Amino acid sequence: MTTNTPANALHLIRMVENTILQVPDIALRTKCVPIILFDDDVQRVGQVLMKSVQREGGLGLAAPQIGVCMRLICVMAGAQPQLLANPEIVKKSEQTYVSTEGCLSIRHGQAPFKARRHKWIKVHALDMTGKYVSIKAHDVYARALQHEIDHLDGILLGDQIVH
Ligand SMILES: [Zn+2]
Repeated sequence: MTTNTPANALHLIRMVENTILQVPDIALRTKCVPIILFDDDVQRVGQVLMKSVQREGGLGLAAPQIGVCMRLICVMAGAQPQLLANPEIVKKSEQTYVSTEGCLSIRHGQAPFKARRHKWIKVHALDMTGKYVSIKAHDVYARALQHEIDHLDGILLGDQIVH
């Protein structure tokens, strides 16, 4: 096999533009599959993610939130939306802190939750050409990345009891 198109096509079936899935949609609880080939389907999902984050004014969005169960997220890196495929946290601070977060899939972001996150993280990922990238993120950026990476494993705000 030289292409992952059949798998991608399968995971695209439910993508609906301008719609962000809400709990308890099962797509939000699915462990997403890694991206192997950066074909047109994957580029299209990336475009919809970027458009959606900017439209909603969110800090980030993950592919399962638009019905596509592949490991692709979009986070705001300052004012710029950034697409990351197969992101993995490879290092994290021992220090954690609790802050409030919303999620566009839970009451359209209107319900604040408390979540404990690492203060900084190091992430390895691929960009939309399949090129390896390494990112060190702090504070809000790190928080958004941790939130979106959780989505790829079906983990949602409110799953952890925060002390
Ligand atoms: Zn979310």
